[in-house]
Amino acid sequence: MMRNFFIHISNNEFLNNQAKKWGFFLGADKFIAGTTIQNVSKAVKQLNATGISCTLDNLGEFVLDKTEASKAKDKILSLLEAIEHENMDCHLSVKLTQLGLDIDQDYCILNMTEILDLAKKYNIFVNIDMEDYAHYEQTLTILKYLRKNYTNVGTVIQAYLYRSEDDLMDLKDVRIRLVKGAYKEDAKVAFQNQQEIDDNFLRLCKKRLLDGAFTSFATHDHHIIDELKNFVKENNLDQECFEFQMLYGFRNDLQSKLAKEGYHFCTYIPFGDDWFGYFVRRLAERPQNLNLVIKDAFYT
Ligand code: FAD
Repeated sequence: MMRNFFIHISNNEFLNNQAKKWGFFLGADKFIAGTTIQNVSKAVKQLNATGISCTLDNLGEFVLDKTEASKAKDKILSLLEAIEHENMDCHLSVKLTQLGLDIDQDYCILNMTEILDLAKKYNIFVNIDMEDYAHYEQTLTILKYLRKNYTNVGTVIQAYLYRSEDDLMDLKDVRIRLVKGAYKEDAKVAFQNQQEIDDNFLRLCKKRLLDGAFTSFATHDHHIIDELKNFVKENNLDQECFEFQMLYGFRNDLQSKLAKEGYHFCTYIPFGDDWFGYFVRRLAERPQNLNLVIKDAFYT
């Protein structure tokens, strides 16, 4: 019930707008690396110094206004300039609904093309985050269209969807981030039971490893991470074919432990003032995060 409540308020327009005005509260700064490119570049450099690469997300989604979508695109272009000129070890994560998917598909593609042109020039990979199922088909269509001209673009597959295995088969040559899935989806399209989702996630991870296609395993679940580490050793698989990913501010000890053990590790760093939806979805995934929030509200 708590999960549904948080997911429900994550896209509440009023709360999202208020949060932009008020700035960080509820301890959101533990999970979001500030609002500016300067803030985020500091966080990247600290992680890079410990052998961890990063992927940057300029927060924002479900944009319905061209001025706002265009502003987001410009900020992402500036971010690419910063990555290149400050020599940061990182790539980009973008959301198509921030770049105008709900306004006009062609306009969104145009924005993506501008981003990918600059990213290609600087040899930077751009990952398209996967949003809710209502945008799934369109996201894959746009990805396939963009892949005709760009190899530096990939996306995310959510293991809670029944169709995830078929989609992965179709994306064998594409760099993919595999996740369990963060949205509330209907039983017609997605597993509802956590064990079924975990089992499918692990099965798909192993399949990608055997296929040798580069994959980012994005999970904080140490049971799954341990099982994957064993699977890689037992099958003598190449460590260059995968990386682990986790979100900024989550399980920091485990993040540095994996990097120290020699695994490729990448931290997903969100930044920007449009933080509310992202933050509340993290509370939905793990209500224990609420403890941190409550402690923060009362003891700081
Ligand atoms: P869960 O299934 O939430 O937890 C499993 C177990 O792991 C828990 O029972 C606990 O034992 C342990 N655990 C988990 N978190 C913690 C913690 N903080 N501290 C201690 N133990 C913990 N979703 C999308 O739909 N689209 C995306 O584009 C997307 N991108 C993502 C990118 C990254 C880098 C990551 C990490 C996630 C992304 N997600 C995305 C979210 C993802 O789909 C899951 O909702 C989210 O990762 C929660 O699942 P989990 O596998 O991390 O662990």
